[in-house]
Amino acid sequence: MPTRRTKRGPARTSLPRDHDVLICGASFAGLAVARELAGCGARVLVIDRYEIGERQTSACGIPTEWLRVMGLMKAHRQTFGRLVVHTPHVTARLELPWTFSTFDYPELCSLLWRRSDAAFETATVQGRTGGVVHTDRGDLSAPLIVDALGWRRMLGRGYQPPNAPLSRGLEVHPWGAGDELEIWIDRRYVPAGYGWSFPARDEVRVGVGSFDPGFHVKDTTVMLAEDLAREPIRYQGNWIPHKLREATEDGVFFVGDSAGHCLPLTAEGIRTAFYFGIACGRELRAVVDGRRTVAEALVRYHDFSAGHEWKFRSMLSAQRLIPRVPPRLLAGALVAMQWRRFVDWSFGHYLHIAPPDFAAPGPPRAARLPQRAAA
Ligand SMILES: Cc1cc2nc3c(=O)[nH]c(=O)nc-3n(C[C@H](O)[C@H](O)[C@H](O)COP(=O)(O)OP(=O)(O)OC[C@H]3O[C@@H](n4cnc5c(N)ncnc54)[C@H](O)[C@@H]3O)c2cc1C
Repeated sequence: MPTRRTKRGPARTSLPRDHDVLICGASFAGLAVARELAGCGARVLVIDRYEIGERQTSACGIPTEWLRVMGLMKAHRQTFGRLVVHTPHVTARLELPWTFSTFDYPELCSLLWRRSDAAFETATVQGRTGGVVHTDRGDLSAPLIVDALGWRRMLGRGYQPPNAPLSRGLEVHPWGAGDELEIWIDRRYVPAGYGWSFPARDEVRVGVGSFDPGFHVKDTTVMLAEDLAREPIRYQGNWIPHKLREATEDGVFFVGDSAGHCLPLTAEGIRTAFYFGIACGRELRAVVDGRRTVAEALVRYHDFSAGHEWKFRSMLSAQRLIPRVPPRLLAGALVAMQWRRFVDWSFGHYLHIAPPDFAAPGPPRAARLPQRAAA
């Protein structure tokens, strides 16, 4: 059982109220927004129900270049230049045109946090009325409010699983090592979805994701772990949105899973949380600097996110199509897909949905910012 570090009882006093920006959620999306605001002079408050980095929310795999451009390589664990795809009839080895890496979640969150100059408090968000955010430590408001609270979209119209465009994912984290980044498209594990094994130096993240929210993945996650002779221990799982949503609603900015920014088919939501978090942070910064009104920033950020809709829709179409392809046909397609030029082309386009160079002109470098330990 993980130990809770979050404030309890008498320590949960009322929160300070005087802020220019309120960021709800301190995982990938919320921390990326906060990082982008560093040095702009705004009073930024970030809140989360847990301490920063306390609760891992994913298998923590990302294109390596995203780690590098964000200055997060200290959290890096392992790099892979090849994706191994297993089906019942064939195993394909796709040599990737860019590398993929696993990282350590608490360390990455701590690094991101050190690059911001925001204040942090633990508080559980309960909802919103107009411009007021209700938390278990009192009401909060600010001229700029960000919902980076994940799939629940607490500050807007939320979804109620399982009847919602959500996938579900569960993984175990056995100790051990591995050399390959592997996925399984195999109906034994999940009728629509895939299983994975992501080594991260001294542990392996083994899990199953189902595009159908009605399919329970616990038993088959255990089955995959056992098939790989890994111990099914240290569970973590969550719902994963697979449909893009409005990135603004009623004056609030939504970033990451709360805006459906996780990519359908692959369920890759970390780099997109960074990407849209940076975009949102840049708009907020323009408001703080007096270059834009809040209304203008809302429209620009909304349109930026919506401009990606056709890419998300294509990924969703592939997510719906692949489980319907008969396994033998899929095996043939995978063999053909190993062709180098095709892999370069398809994975190049895939990376370009949220390209790492978007982060490059970002905020000031860490050396110029105060270095602070996670609260
Ligand atoms: C099993 C699994 C494996 C995955 N593996 C990968 C992967 O390898 N690579 C990848 O790119 N994506 C992966 N994903 C998807 C990825 O985890 C998400 O897309 C990503 O975490 C979204 O980031 P976020 O910051 O928007 O939301 P989250 O990471 O979900 O963060 C939301 C934050 O809000 C806080 N919060 C929630 N509710 C409240 C509340 N009421 N009050 C206060 N705080 C609250 C939470 O504590 C959390 O800190 C995986 C998902 C799952 C379920």
